[in-house]
Amino acid sequence: MDCLFCKIVNGEIPSTKIYEDETVYAFADIAPQAPFHAVIVPKMHIKCADEITEENSFVVAKIFEAAAKIAKSENLEKGYRMVNNCGEEGGQTVGHLHFHLLAGRMLAWPPG
Ligand code: 5GP
Ligand code: ZN
Repeated sequence: MDCLFCKIVNGEIPSTKIYEDETVYAFADIAPQAPFHAVIVPKMHIKCADEITEENSFVVAKIFEAAAKIAKSENLEKGYRMVNNCGEEGGQTVGHLHFHLLAGRMLAWPPG
């Protein structure tokens, strides 16, 4: 399958690893939108949040467990934001489920 994040997960495309376990891979975003910007993905290919089902929803819990671990190891005690973009109007550009973990500056709300 021609999926950028599947290729990052299996090492075909290099990335800067931030965290990994059996379910989840996290890496530095190539175009960071904050001083700390990780992308957290499930290792299995799921296209977007719309494709979460009873069978695969455990990966979302694993992603948030990973975020909590990363926040501790990266000293993000001032706070952070987890963002999931879904579909064209949601701003999704890569068709493999992912969460952005953004931190290190005051983040605006509501987002643009
Ligand atoms: P989306 O816009 O789909 O929510 O987020 C996709 C993210 O993937 C963007 O923040 C973009 O900078 C990042 N990205 C796209 N291509 C690459 C790549 O080849 N390597 C890394 N590390 N990040 C990428
Ligand atoms: Zn994929």
